[in-house]
Amino acid sequence: MHDRKQIEAAEDSALAPWALRASQSRGRRVNEAEHTYRTCFQRDRDRVIHCAAFRRLEYKTQVFLNWEGDHFRTRLTHTLEVAQAARTIARALRLNEDVCEAVSLAHDLGHTCFGHAGEHAMRELMRDHGGYEHNGQSLRIVDELERSYLPAFKGLNLTHEVRYGLMKHRTDYDKPLFKGLVERESPSLEAQVANFADEISYNAHDVDDGLYSGLLTREAARESELFARAEREAAQAVGQGEEDLLRYQIVRRLKDYQISDLLAHSAHRIAEAGFSCIEDVLAYNGPPVIEFSPAMKQQVIALKRMLHARFYKHRRVMRSMEKGTRFMKEMFERYVEEPFLLPGGFHRRIEQGESRHRVVCDYIAGMTDRYALEQYKKLFDPDTW
Ligand code: MG
Repeated sequence: MHDRKQIEAAEDSALAPWALRASQSRGRRVNEAEHTYRTCFQRDRDRVIHCAAFRRLEYKTQVFLNWEGDHFRTRLTHTLEVAQAARTIARALRLNEDVCEAVSLAHDLGHTCFGHAGEHAMRELMRDHGGYEHNGQSLRIVDELERSYLPAFKGLNLTHEVRYGLMKHRTDYDKPLFKGLVERESPSLEAQVANFADEISYNAHDVDDGLYSGLLTREAARESELFARAEREAAQAVGQGEEDLLRYQIVRRLKDYQISDLLAHSAHRIAEAGFSCIEDVLAYNGPPVIEFSPAMKQQVIALKRMLHARFYKHRRVMRSMEKGTRFMKEMFERYVEEPFLLPGGFHRRIEQGESRHRVVCDYIAGMTDRYALEQYKKLFDPDTW
């Protein structure tokens, strides 16, 4: 049996010199005794999986509402795909898989109900009240809002490295909210990997869900060169006629093209940057190290553009999201006006002096789609009491 010390020693010999190491963690906000057979990063990952906000991801929208179909991604399955891609990339680049996995699993904890439309609506609602962004909210959840470890500490008391990875989570949709918290350090390569794993995963699985729903057609998707290539090669492999099989083979190729390119280009960039330890990564000030090649970057941008125009903006997707966010806004206003309508714990926080808007934001941002709908009915539907 390997104990923690042996696992840490194994990390030392297996990982690249510039990877994060559990034995060198800057530790937790509240000191805790180390575990016997898990490293601090393994423990972080486990705490994320066991928190209530993680379980709620199952009923939060990726693109489609949970009840629109059993085969569509939810925010939970999206998160699992991100973690899996991040681990593959981390292992190939000899980076710390446990950190990549923990950051990936936690990256969307703070996402609102009703997908990106929900996030957008919450940003508007909180514009004059301190703002809202889902990665800032993910950090709030792991730092403050989870309550399983009281009275020892609020939140999950994660390590500096995983928390910092969450702060630094940036994709097209994610701009760090808590700017004051971001130190003048570059993100670890592990945090950068989690960002790309997120982007690669949704680029691929949204094509899958789009095609499966019928809202995106293969003909429209061919606007993307990357899609056209994947379709061509998939058709050669499986032949025409089997639509489900063809779709699966297209999607796995989309993922493979992106990950293979990212690995090759990033390995090259790491060598160029000349890191010899983790401090070099954190002090680094040049162009991104984990990155697609210039050619792939252009293709990925084109793929996203196609998804936006042909799928995310589809009337049927927009209609569901418009309806969901309208409910969110109405509830938000009602709860701010009449905080006694909030569940006890939230109501108490206002009595103890917290801002109404922040408390209501925490409550609504935490809601799953179906819970939001239930609460909406209880507040406004004359036939539901
Ligand atoms: Mg995500």
